[in-house]
Amino acid sequence: MDNQNEMLKTAQELIEKTGRKLNLFQEEIDFLIQPDRVIEIKVPVKMDNGVIKTFVGYRSQHNNVLGPYKGGIRFHQNVSREEVIALSTLMTLKCAANSLPLGGGKGGVIVNPKELSEEELERLSRAYAKAIAPFIGEDVDVPAPDVNTDGRIMMWMLDEYEKTIGKKSPATFTGKPVEFGGSLGRTEATGRGGVIVMGNLLKALNKDYKTIAIQGLGNVGSYFAKIAFEKGFKIVALSDSKGGIYNENGLNPDEVIKIKEETGKVSDYSDGKVITNEELLELPVDILVPAALENVITKDNASNIKAKLIIEMANGPITEETYPILEEKGIISAPDILANGGGVIVSYFEWLQNRKNEKWTEEEVNQKLEEQLKTALKEILDISQEYKVNLKEAAFISALKKITKK
Ligand code: GLU
Repeated sequence: MDNQNEMLKTAQELIEKTGRKLNLFQEEIDFLIQPDRVIEIKVPVKMDNGVIKTFVGYRSQHNNVLGPYKGGIRFHQNVSREEVIALSTLMTLKCAANSLPLGGGKGGVIVNPKELSEEELERLSRAYAKAIAPFIGEDVDVPAPDVNTDGRIMMWMLDEYEKTIGKKSPATFTGKPVEFGGSLGRTEATGRGGVIVMGNLLKALNKDYKTIAIQGLGNVGSYFAKIAFEKGFKIVALSDSKGGIYNENGLNPDEVIKIKEETGKVSDYSDGKVITNEELLELPVDILVPAALENVITKDNASNIKAKLIIEMANGPITEETYPILEEKGIISAPDILANGGGVIVSYFEWLQNRKNEKWTEEEVNQKLEEQLKTALKEILDISQEYKVNLKEAAFISALKKITKK
C-alpha cells in the first residue's frame, strides 16, 4: 500500500475506533468517513518554453457540519486523490478539536514546484485558483498554504479568484501576506502553536525534556526550531528533504537556515555530522518533531525510536499500527490535529479580521492562539484519562464529540 492510502487508512481507522468508543452508530461513522465531495481539475500552465503543460489538481471538501470547509493547498509530486481526502479528513477533526466554527478541506496539485520558474509557479497558482473558483468562497470553502505553498501564492490565488468572480473577497484565502490582508503572526503560527503545545504538555506530564530533533525545515519546522530555541530548548538535529545535520552540543537554527538559504541544503552546514532523514528519527533525543511529510514513523522503525516525546507537526507522520508499539515503549505523542493546529487557528483569526475589517496586534493574536491551544490540550488530556486512551485517540474523540454533539 502506498503512503497516501496508508494515511487515509490511518485516519479512517481512527475514526472507526474512536467513533465506537463514543457509541456512534455505524451509519454515523460512515457519514464521518466519506468526504462530501472531491473535485478533480485540469490545471493547464503555459511553460516558459511556450508549451502548455497540463497538471492535475484536487480539492477535497470533507465535512462542513461545523462551518465552511477549511484547509491548505499543497504543491507536491506525491499529491493524490487519496492524500487530499485523508488530509481534508484531518482538517475536519483539527478544526473541531480546536473548537473552530469550520469544517475540513484540502487541495493539491501533482507537481514538483522546485522544477518550476517563478513565472511558471505564478501561472500554476492562478490556473488552479481559476479552476476551483466555482467551488470556494468565504462562506463555502477557505483555502490556505500547506506544503510548498506560502503567502505569495495565496496572494496570486486570491487575485485570480477575485478577477474570476468580479468582486473583492479577501476572506476566501488565509495565510496571505500582511500587506494583502493577512494576519500578523500567521506565518509563524503553526510552529509557535507546536511549541505552545509542547511546553504545556511537558508541564502536564511534569517532565523537563530539553533536546530536540526536527525533521523538515519548511515553514512549520523552521519556526518551531526558532521559537523552541528562543525558549531555551536544545536543538540537536535539523533536516530538509535532502538530509540533515546533527550536533549533540546544539545548533542555532538561524545559522542552519542561513546556510540552507545560501546553498539549498541543510547538510552543507559545517558544524555537525551529516545524517539522513531516517537517521534523524532514531537519534537519542528527548523530543522528536516530524515536521515534514506523512507516514515517516512506521512499524519498521518504531522500535528504533529513542525519543520520549513526539510532537506531530506534519500531518499524519505516524501510521495507525505504530501507536501501540510506541505506547509499549512509553513514548508519548502529541497528535497532529492538536500540535499543528496553530496554523488553522490563526487562519481563523485572519478570516475574522477580514470579515470585520479589523487588524489585531501580533500580541493579541499570539495570546488568543495560546488560550485556544491550552483549552484544546486540556480537553484532550481530560478525555485521555476518562476514556483511558492515548492522546491521538483522545484528540479524535474530542473532535468527534463536537461534530456529533455527543
Ligand atoms: N495547511 C495547514 C494545516 O494543515 C493550515 C490550514 C489552514 O490554515 O487552513 O493545518
